[in-house]
Amino acid sequence: MYNYGLDIWGENNYIIEDGKVKLNYLSKPAIIDIVKEIRKKGIKGPILLRFPHLIQKQIDNIYSHFRRASKENNYKGSFNAVFPLKVNQFPNFVTSLLEKGEKYHYGLEAGSKAELFIAMAYNNKNAPITVNGFKDEEMIMLGFIAARMGYNITLTIEGLNELESIIQIAKKTPKHATLPNIGLRIRLHSSGIGIWAKSGGINSKFGLTSTELVTAIELLREKNLLDNFTMIHFHIGSQITEITPMKKALREAGNIYADLKKMGAKNLHAINIGGGLAVEYSQHEEYHQKNYSIREFANDIVFMLQTIAQSKKVQEPDIFIESGRYIAASHAVLTAPVLELFSQEYHESSLKLKENNPPLITELFELYKTINANTALEYLHDSIDHMESLLTLFDLGYIDLIDRSNTEILIHLIIKKAMNLLKNKPHKELISIQERIQERYLINFSIFQSLPDYWGLGQNFPVMPLSKLNETPVRSASLWDITCDSDGEIEFNIKKPLFLHDVDIKKEEYFLGFFLVGAYQEILGMKHNLFTHPTEATIEIDENGYKIKNILESQSIYDILEDLDYDMKEVERRLKNNLDEIKNLSEKERDTILGQIYLFLNDNTYLKTVQK
Ligand SMILES: *Cc1c(COP(=O)(O)O)cnc(C)c1O
Repeated sequence: MYNYGLDIWGENNYIIEDGKVKLNYLSKPAIIDIVKEIRKKGIKGPILLRFPHLIQKQIDNIYSHFRRASKENNYKGSFNAVFPLKVNQFPNFVTSLLEKGEKYHYGLEAGSKAELFIAMAYNNKNAPITVNGFKDEEMIMLGFIAARMGYNITLTIEGLNELESIIQIAKKTPKHATLPNIGLRIRLHSSGIGIWAKSGGINSKFGLTSTELVTAIELLREKNLLDNFTMIHFHIGSQITEITPMKKALREAGNIYADLKKMGAKNLHAINIGGGLAVEYSQHEEYHQKNYSIREFANDIVFMLQTIAQSKKVQEPDIFIESGRYIAASHAVLTAPVLELFSQEYHESSLKLKENNPPLITELFELYKTINANTALEYLHDSIDHMESLLTLFDLGYIDLIDRSNTEILIHLIIKKAMNLLKNKPHKELISIQERIQERYLINFSIFQSLPDYWGLGQNFPVMPLSKLNETPVRSASLWDITCDSDGEIEFNIKKPLFLHDVDIKKEEYFLGFFLVGAYQEILGMKHNLFTHPTEATIEIDENGYKIKNILESQSIYDILEDLDYDMKEVERRLKNNLDEIKNLSEKERDTILGQIYLFLNDNTYLKTVQK
């Protein structure tokens, strides 16, 4: 069975059964059934499904592996985790996350004032908050307020000037008030790898050099704040696909930790290793993205930190982790209807053969009529050659537009027939011509909005149809979104081929699922062509079925324009004026059109044609 690499990226979260992809959890609902139920409520276009049980699974995984590794090594430090809000700040995700993480005291990481406000309003009270990123005085003041609210908050200093601000603000804070903890971000000479590796390393945007660290310690001591210094932090970049750079960073950080303690930082007790835990996005065996498991990751970190602490004779540090991608990616699946297959319009009935056709067209017609399983490949080759000759003849003026149209139709009919005849015999040569005879699937979604990392970084996300999985897909597929930008395309790549089914969209619905889109994609999504965040829903699965919760419809056109600061009263006035200028418009017609305008303004921007 063709399983779209589910065994590589799926983490046992899905199964294929009855031709459908289903959640591998409790009542095992099929994604397509959930989508159809939501669409029954009148919702069309792409729908983003959130599965809280998959958030739970990732949180359980990370805590259980670190707890196991700590136990096996008799590690003395504690394990703590926070979720970096920049990975997904959407409320229906964040509230699920905090609910699922409550029993572990799972906290939040904030990188901006707005994110810090989310943390201060929603973080579980016993759970830590860490604050990274560049900070102004206002942001540091917010951190002090959070500490007074009772949060266990650590402000990680990115540069010495931030430390100066902390010192100033601490001076103005009443003596009895609880102060935030202070963390120092260290600049490592080792760095990450891959397309996201810009956060670590000696030239990185962030962190204190050794010299600055020594200055910071002296400054803290002088201002009586050294006892508030509790944590060192680093982050070597996202999607760390090999474990080696992490080990290098740990070795460096572990030694810095030990030396800072020896320099008198007596309350320093934690190493925050940032994020970077990778997600396997590949659908193809040859393109595995990560070479370690969470088990190995946890073992290595615990073992490495223990070894350094023991050899330098300092207390084993508490471990803090800020993994975001690993926690959030799997929880969201984007589902989108296929609107059209571009070659679908080519039917035998559309042929306009003449009394006297150019000989190559007569030959193409013969090939089409007589092709069988044994000749399929040969005929396919011949017909592609004929097509190229015919197109040249057209350019030279020897055949006309009708001949050219007949060529187009015949070639598509032959391809279709050949693909069906060859369906069950995967053939090397067939694969080699697949690139030339791909089908274009028009999908009701925007790549800029929903898969921005594909557009910006060439990051692939697993994609598969939600149904028909008991039939062999025969069409090599390129996917087109509905923006009018030619970058809004996922091209067919012979090295990582995507095959989809040959469907007649007028007769049956066909949906694609894009998986592992829960990290970064939503907030990075752009409103290019004014396509906004798709409709979302949270799906809670139980033993008997599932519940659809928190449906949030994609923004209406009215709201989108208002967000751009169009004065909507003015827009309405202008539209009405234009209506009034139409000559011969009856009162009744005017009202009807006005009604339509209001109706359409209150719809979202995704397409409603054909399959809606
Ligand atoms: C982005 C970021 C993270 C999260 O990284 P992931 O690769 O998503 O786990 C953690 N910590 C800091 C400081 C970050 O900037």
